[in-house]
Amino acid sequence: MIGRRLPEERPRVAPVGYKIATLLLSAGGDRAGFAGVSIGRGQTYGVEDDARCAYGRRHASPAPRCDCGFYCLGSEAEARDLLCVTEYRFAALLTVDVLGSYIRYQRGLRYSRQRVTAVRVGACACGNPAELLVDAGAGMTGRRALTGCCLSCAAGRIGLSFGAYARLAGVPVTADASPYVLGERDVVPRLVAEVTLLQARLDRCQEQLGRLLGSDP
Ligand SMILES: [Zn+2]
Ligand SMILES: [Zn+2]
Repeated sequence: MIGRRLPEERPRVAPVGYKIATLLLSAGGDRAGFAGVSIGRGQTYGVEDDARCAYGRRHASPAPRCDCGFYCLGSEAEARDLLCVTEYRFAALLTVDVLGSYIRYQRGLRYSRQRVTAVRVGACACGNPAELLVDAGAGMTGRRALTGCCLSCAAGRIGLSFGAYARLAGVPVTADASPYVLGERDVVPRLVAEVTLLQARLDRCQEQLGRLLGSDP
């Protein structure tokens, strides 16, 4: 079996994968990009890009005797699991089309070219779904990292709307659902109850006002 080549795949549609990445904004605020979180952590890439060897070797990625190249997982749930890891908390979930050559592994692919097709921003640190992007307090030369934040936690801070980031990056950006599903369910009925109470008070005020005005000759 030594020397036997792996079977070659020639898919008609690009394989779809999931990965996590740091969202970046250039120092001048005019360019958006992504950075990997493990191998190639210091390398940035655009919405459609080619992999470069993370060790500066002169070969095309993914080289069989190197571990460079883009990586993705085949399962969205497994990619989302990575977002729980302490150092990846500020990362976003990307959906990618795998283009060019690739090497298939049990849980995903290592490959030469990718197109990011969707960005989902994780929940705010408070648990609410993110509503804009703010400085994550990290970065690299010429680029600062951004992370999702809700409007109430962002009060007084300058941030970037998802739409603005999407225009710079060239890919749709949306909020990922909050993992606190039960918490959200708790909040909504409470808000509805508060609004109902306010409405009832307003109705009473209007009634009293109407009576006062009506009794005034
Ligand atoms: Zn390499
Ligand atoms: Zn918040």
